Amino acid sequence: MRRVGVLALQGDVREHRAVLERLGARVELVRRPEQLHGLDALVIPGGESTTIAYLLTTSGLREPLAAALNNGLVTFGTCAGLIMLADSISDGRLDQWSYHQLDVDVRRNGYGRQLASFEATVDVRGVGPVPGVFIRAPRIERVGPDVEVWATYDHGDGTHPVLVRQGSAWGCSFHPELTTDARIHGLFLDAASEALR
Ligand code: GLN
Repeated sequence: MRRVGVLALQGDVREHRAVLERLGARVELVRRPEQLHGLDALVIPGGESTTIAYLLTTSGLREPLAAALNNGLVTFGTCAGLIMLADSISDGRLDQWSYHQLDVDVRRNGYGRQLASFEATVDVRGVGPVPGVFIRAPRIERVGPDVEVWATYDHGDGTHPVLVRQGSAWGCSFHPELTTDARIHGLFLDAASEALR
């Protein structure tokens, strides 16, 4: 059984936990640095990236999590979590920082303010069509050469990646934890198992 942490500072922690447990993972909620020990994988949930960043700093998790990520901890950032893993952020706060695990540029709320939230079908490599819930979602505007694109979506203004992977880091613009379809979490758990093999 895989031990999967869910960063539990802010955002949709419960929803991720429920999907992961449904898939047979043992879930540990991570709020303090010592709770990073012994994890096989980690989810950084959606929510509000500036708040998550602030709480990472005040909880003392910012540096220990950087070390774990640089050490190859398999990590899945969804929505705000993707922003936390990105290399560069547009429309962020001036002092907004991130972990630079994914060589991508993201624009916060990049799918427009009026259509801030919507649902769409997203075709995922090796999985097929999955429901995608986008909530003030970050748009991936550039991907580097080492980034694998697992799904793209066209919201009417060009095709953009919405699920990407670079080595041990995965990032997703939408919220796979808000539907009953667990296949994207399944992909992530398979990647975590592969990394431990
Ligand atoms: N717009 C939010 C942010 O910048 C992300 C939204 C979400 O995670 N649903 O953090």
